[in-house]
Amino acid sequence: MSSEVTTYQLLDGKAASKAIRDRIATEAAEVTAHRGRPPHLAAVLVGDDGASRTYVNSKVKACAAVGFRSTLIEESADLTEEELLGMIDRMNRDPELDGFIVQLPLPKHIDEEKVTLAIDPRKDVDGFHPENIGRMVLGLPGYLPATPAGIVELLRHYGVETSGKHCVVVGRSHIVGTPMSILMSRNSEPGNCTVTITHSRTRDLSSIVRQADILIPAIGKPEFITADMVKDGAVVVDVGIHRMPDASRKSGFRLVGDVKFDEVAPKCSWISPVPGGVGPMTITSLLLNTLKAAKG
Ligand code: NDP
Repeated sequence: MSSEVTTYQLLDGKAASKAIRDRIATEAAEVTAHRGRPPHLAAVLVGDDGASRTYVNSKVKACAAVGFRSTLIEESADLTEEELLGMIDRMNRDPELDGFIVQLPLPKHIDEEKVTLAIDPRKDVDGFHPENIGRMVLGLPGYLPATPAGIVELLRHYGVETSGKHCVVVGRSHIVGTPMSILMSRNSEPGNCTVTITHSRTRDLSSIVRQADILIPAIGKPEFITADMVKDGAVVVDVGIHRMPDASRKSGFRLVGDVKFDEVAPKCSWISPVPGGVGPMTITSLLLNTLKAAKG
């Protein structure tokens, strides 16, 4: 007999972000009073990718709302690697700047690895530098990668129990899947999961995903996770974000995740929506990292 769960609760990233950002604003005001200047984040946008522009604008807007200073540096797609590395060097040495991000993806002629390595780990508020990744693995202080850290904060905010649960992460990218698997396996709350990390070479993905108490898809394929792949009562945190053409919308598109929300949600105990789930939490993590950088 099926034990299908018919009511689910939303892991509402907007509401959680609002609560956390209120706390950040209070602390930012204290930092500003103490240092005589607000926390300061810079964001570098190279080229004119529409989605990247939207993300960067949201980050800049979020800074203003919590009382941070922000600087948006927009460069055309023909910026050379050397020029970008020169800018990074100047930002590393700028005493008025607490942290900065270089929005990915970059144009093909720029080596993203070189760029990541050039950022001073003390200003790497995206948490992508190998030093910060290493610190995360060892549980040492540092900056956590924004999206996985945001997911941990989302689970914490809603008091979702994770200890002893089987967490399946789908995707092994450096910025989402891999660090996510580490954070969920750490000896902390949220954490203490038994983690399985899967990827495009995983055999019989569905049967592994179906074993998940906590499922975190970060695949980059719209509505890939369907109801038959999800265990009754699972917690699902959808990282994917995709613009699907939709003529009925003024924008011309609608956003969907890696999960087929309408059919999966009724099976879940908790599920995050797209939009309004992981997206706002990623930005909240960036603000938390910037506040930490400003506190020194
Ligand atoms: P990547 O493309 O870097 O990684 C995707 C991962 O999914 C890879 O590890 C890949 O495996 C795996 N994968 C692809 N196809 C399959 C498959 N059929 N079965 C199993 N695994 C598969 O993506 P990102 O990690 O950067 O991002 C993932 C998604 O999250 C995207 O939709 C992105 O837009 C979104 N995102 C959202 C953020 C937010 O703030 N909401 C922030 C960052 C990302 P393999 O390694 O073998 O190729």
